[in-house]
Amino acid sequence: MTPPASRGFVEVADRVFLARYPQWDVQVGLVLGRDGAVVVDTRASDVQGREVLDDVRRLGRDIEVRHVVNTHVHFDHTFGNIAFDTATVHAHETVAATLEARGERIKQLLRDDPAGAPEYGYTEADARGVVATPLRLPDRTFASSATIDLGDRVVTMTYAGRGHTEGDVAVGVADAGVLFLGDLIEESDHPSLGEDSWPLEWADTLTSHLTAAGEPGVVVPGHGRPVDVAFAERQRDEVAAVAAVLRERRLAGMALVDALHEPDARLPYPLEHLGTAVHRVWAQLATPSPAE
Ligand SMILES: [Zn+2]
Repeated sequence: MTPPASRGFVEVADRVFLARYPQWDVQVGLVLGRDGAVVVDTRASDVQGREVLDDVRRLGRDIEVRHVVNTHVHFDHTFGNIAFDTATVHAHETVAATLEARGERIKQLLRDDPAGAPEYGYTEADARGVVATPLRLPDRTFASSATIDLGDRVVTMTYAGRGHTEGDVAVGVADAGVLFLGDLIEESDHPSLGEDSWPLEWADTLTSHLTAAGEPGVVVPGHGRPVDVAFAERQRDEVAAVAAVLRERRLAGMALVDALHEPDARLPYPLEHLGTAVHRVWAQLATPSPAE
């Protein structure tokens, strides 16, 4: 399904705004405080980051974006960093360590195949924009948690373990009851269990974030519409089911080729979408030693 066109920023809780953009269907957050604003995720290119800034200015207020948070390393959440030249960029420490290598890899993929993909909402011009974007690494990183003080409210950044990547952080605005979870959840698609994902640890990571956050009224996924805690818990349980089935198969000594094709009614997503997850679990769980 083609993602919807952008409507710019819409307020979803007290001085917390979201803008959903068609290219890769990315959700971007904006948190306003007395001492400036925080942007959560910056989209996939210099041009796209500038569009976010234009949309901030369109709110018609005197808003200064002083901080950017990257929920994780992926290009559609980080490449727009370069557009926010007066802001401090915050991210988990692994983002600083891996953004260049990951970034070059996606640039190479789009350089080799720059054709647009309507189902992901991007054109050839968007793809070329990604390739042309200079990477900007985080300025301030943390291992477990950090805060941004906006004078009259605090934005928290929390790491609770691996999941969609090795460095996903949750961004909380407790006074407004909003929790950004990046791609640890997705509303418009299945969660992306990709080649840098940690399927066996993902559900526990989500449980930690949801427990720590109390009862946020708005949970913001990396892609798609904002959801509630019940949605996030359901998706957490689906990821847990994937992990349970794949762990069981691995520990039973099933051959990889069978694990890629054998149906199981407990799997919440089509097996053809779980090929990478199977490979990840095979790599992450040691082969059981043969019986003596
Ligand atoms: Zn991602």
